[in-house]
Amino acid sequence: MSARACTRSLPTALLIRNTTWASHLPRSAFSLKVGHPTQTSDHTTRATRLHLQKTASSFLSKRNFATAATASAAAATTAALCASVPIQADEARESTSNPTDFSQIAANMAPVPDGATANGQTKHKVVIIGSGPAGHTAAIYLARANLEPVLFEGLLANGLAPGGQLTTTTDVENFPGFPDGIRGPEIMDKFRAQSERFGTKIYTETISKVDLSERPFKFWREGKEAEPAELADTIIMATGASARRMNLKGEDVYWQSGISACAVCDGAVPIFRNKPLAVIGGGDSAAEEATYLTKYGSHVYVLVRRDELRASKIMAKRLVNHPKVTVLFNHVATEAKGDGELLNALAIKNTKTGEEKDLQVNGLFYAIGHDPATNLVKGQVECDADGYIVTKPGTAQTSIKGVFAAGDVQDKKYRQAVTSAGSGCIAALEAERLLAEEEEEAA
Ligand SMILES: Cc1cc2nc3c(=O)[nH]c(=O)nc-3n(C[C@H](O)[C@H](O)[C@H](O)COP(=O)(O)OP(=O)(O)OC[C@H]3O[C@@H](n4cnc5c(N)ncnc54)[C@H](O)[C@@H]3O)c2cc1C
Repeated sequence: MSARACTRSLPTALLIRNTTWASHLPRSAFSLKVGHPTQTSDHTTRATRLHLQKTASSFLSKRNFATAATASAAAATTAALCASVPIQADEARESTSNPTDFSQIAANMAPVPDGATANGQTKHKVVIIGSGPAGHTAAIYLARANLEPVLFEGLLANGLAPGGQLTTTTDVENFPGFPDGIRGPEIMDKFRAQSERFGTKIYTETISKVDLSERPFKFWREGKEAEPAELADTIIMATGASARRMNLKGEDVYWQSGISACAVCDGAVPIFRNKPLAVIGGGDSAAEEATYLTKYGSHVYVLVRRDELRASKIMAKRLVNHPKVTVLFNHVATEAKGDGELLNALAIKNTKTGEEKDLQVNGLFYAIGHDPATNLVKGQVECDADGYIVTKPGTAQTSIKGVFAAGDVQDKKYRQAVTSAGSGCIAALEAERLLAEEEEEAA
């Protein structure tokens, strides 16, 4: 099968980002638009796959694979994609004398068990599920501690590309160490490279099932549920969360071009400065986001579906009394409008009178909640009423010894890349400590 033919028929083109030649792909190939899990069902996933396949195919058709090394890596990657096994470009290059012998390449790239047990099950000391800042930070610490972490970065898990939520954004300006800012997908490439540099094994697969009833824990990769479980002494849940979206007409056009779901992340960017902005939502986070945006916008409209705010009294009072805020009760948005490049208006409707009009705004911020990716452990690990994994305050420990949680999956308050990375570090240090204590006890 030719590289192009295979790539077209692939379930996803995400694996290709692991390779040298894939670094030449346009960023947009990996920059996906995230959706609410209820929308990210088959429709969004198919759209996302199509987007990736289209981009990858069109790129492949334009390039000639000028150098042997690039061609070799590309061919090997293609074979890996077809065989649906993880691959690293360097390994692929080394293991391939004839770049067109795909069967040999695929065989060479089958996953190597970390430590097979007597009954053929593979056992790992630490398994990290998730590939955002939390997962990769945990991996960096664990790999440097020689604990041979295995990280599952997901295959469009939760509708997100490997690398997580930051792959869906443009500029990240508040992550320390990047004084000029950095593109979201680029910083996640750096996280990934740092994880790999110290020996983390990364698999572009989704974990679909876990059994946490006893240690070692059992887990299964998606599509391999009928096979024997793999085992893990400890698990770090770093599966993240996704911001709810409204599926407004025009939303896809202006997402990240006027529409955002994070005021703290995006409020300061130039397109919003001294411009009228809108926030949708009536709870505490809507009140918080709107108040925060008053620092940057010329005025902030808050659209509330009902005739009252759900926010706490103090937050609501602060909001309605703010001179730069107008709360539009009984209003919903019906369409995001703009010039095709940037948002410049929002069609809104009064739910009581039916009156419709355009609100001139250059920014729209959703504050209608997030969905933590916790389906995998629901009913096994303690979660709060909103579905977030509960951790012991100040730690990454969950209700199950040996299972740790880091990042947005356990944090409904801050939800930032740097706080996720921080909690990934905590999870890694705690997993390391637990394993060391248990090893000592066993000795
Ligand atoms: C549009 C946007 C812009 C943002 N901008 C900023 C910003 O400028 N600055 C900032 O600090 N923060 C920003 N954030 C927030 C930041 O992205 C998050 O706080 C951070 O990414 C959370 O990291 P995480 O490691 O918890 O997980 P996530 O980034 O959510 O990543 C989790 C990953 O795990 C994978 N996964 C889920 N389930 C499984 C499974 N079962 N098996 C395998 N893999 C799985 C997912 O596919 C995903 O790739 C932004 C968020 C969004 C949506």
